[in-house]
Amino acid sequence: MPFVFRDAELTLDFLVVGGGIAGLAVAYALSTAGHRVRVVEKFGLDRPSAGQRIPPNLSKILWQWIGPEELMKVSTRCVGSPFHQLTTGENIGYLHWKPAVMAEMGGDFLLMHHDDLIRILHKLAIKAGARVDFNTEVVAVQQGSEEKPDPSVTLANGEVIYADVLIGADGSKSLVRDVVLEEEDEAKPGPMTTYSGVVKAEDMVGDPELAPLVQSEELPQWPVWMGNFRFIFGHPVRARKEYAFTIFNCKVPTPEQAGKETWDELFPTEQALTEEDGTLCQKLVKLAGPRLIRSQLMSRRDIDDWVDSTGRIVLIGDSAHPNYPGGTHTAAMAVEDGAVLGSLFSHLSSKEQIPAFLNAYQELRQRRCEMVNRAVFDNARMMCLPPGPEADARDQDMAAQATDWDDGMLKVQFEEISAIFLYDAGDDAEEWWINWGRFHDSGNNSKPSVATFDFGNVSVRYE
Ligand SMILES: Cc1cc2nc3c(=O)[nH]c(=O)nc-3n(C[C@H](O)[C@H](O)[C@H](O)COP(=O)(O)OP(=O)(O)OC[C@H]3O[C@@H](n4cnc5c(N)ncnc54)[C@H](O)[C@@H]3O)c2cc1C
Repeated sequence: MPFVFRDAELTLDFLVVGGGIAGLAVAYALSTAGHRVRVVEKFGLDRPSAGQRIPPNLSKILWQWIGPEELMKVSTRCVGSPFHQLTTGENIGYLHWKPAVMAEMGGDFLLMHHDDLIRILHKLAIKAGARVDFNTEVVAVQQGSEEKPDPSVTLANGEVIYADVLIGADGSKSLVRDVVLEEEDEAKPGPMTTYSGVVKAEDMVGDPELAPLVQSEELPQWPVWMGNFRFIFGHPVRARKEYAFTIFNCKVPTPEQAGKETWDELFPTEQALTEEDGTLCQKLVKLAGPRLIRSQLMSRRDIDDWVDSTGRIVLIGDSAHPNYPGGTHTAAMAVEDGAVLGSLFSHLSSKEQIPAFLNAYQELRQRRCEMVNRAVFDNARMMCLPPGPEADARDQDMAAQATDWDDGMLKVQFEEISAIFLYDAGDDAEEWWINWGRFHDSGNNSKPSVATFDFGNVSVRYE
């Protein structure tokens, strides 16, 4: 269902902490519904970043928001993923992103640069009327009180800003989350350190081993090299003018080895490589220059509540449901969150509806994000199995999938990925409104029962 860009009957002041993918997406969606939105982002627009996968559930939203023509100027359609052994480069299997399967999903699997996605969303948010203040850091978050229910933030310059609704889109190391949890969130280094970089395609074409990664114009791929607690993937970005890659080191680091939970730490390239990485990967990574972006996964518990006790502060994106850095679905989940919130608040007619709408957002999004996060971690684990029977079984399975493509396999692939790819954020929010929201007593803040939700054309079995 296309997004309904209707103006809300009652418009509010929203303050969004964080101008990453989640913050800019929700700013666009809410502004489009007529709300006044201000985003405060502690850094500027120019920051290091690398590759971003755009699965069909995200590309179908971006198509609606900016149109296929604009989107395809900066992205590339992915036709499949070859799987290789990390050290020898031996071919193990091939996963086709079959056009017939993608067509059923209503989107396409695209490959792009994180920075291009940020700029697209920023442009959209500004054009829709949102205000985005860069280099503006929030240092404290205050809940409202009975006398003055509006939440507020204090900026580094001492300014205090109030809003009707405060949105925490401040990433995995979120300040807003501590206020929602009403305690400091505990985190410790988890089993994933990533090193990301970008190489110019023109620097790769002279090398016969690297050239095929960027030269096969009609066959852009997203290859994965699988090793022992380690894997590397890469893909074209910036409409094939550059090539982005990420090394995933899947062991819990010692305190000395641990990186930072940011995308701003630059780490020496040579130290990121190991002898296990084959010549192709070594060459590719070295071409990125002397430093790579190092990001550390921090393990934290899943949180039950994304909405604070006052019903005016809400978490979205990585602040609500963090995954590992460079995970394939983090951007998609962040934009879906924003789209659902924007869609729900396009129905606002009374301030009393705010807590119910925020709770509906959580009910609609939480189990989906948990399901997707689980799938993403399971996939990562499969990519970095140590040598042994489990790795052998994986390789045999992948080899069979690469050769035995028939209608049966197509059906299996469809069933496996449809729960994630078929999802339509606009449908989800509209169905809640039609089935629940419009009958809701605007003074009643109770959460709707998820047991009776109809997920429409998405057949998802939640555990
Ligand atoms: C600079 C950067 C580069 C990235 N590059 C990649 C990449 O190449 N590939 C990839 O797969 N993923 C990348 N990611 C991660 C990816 O964007 C997220 O995992 C995912 O898209 C969810 O986005 P998010 O907006 O929830 O979180 P984030 O992308 O982490 O955005 C949160 C934003 O909040 C801001 N912020 C935090 N605290 C405050 C505060 N107190 N006051 C004001 N602002 C605050 C941060 O500066 C950040 O811009 C990157 C993230 C960042 C921040």
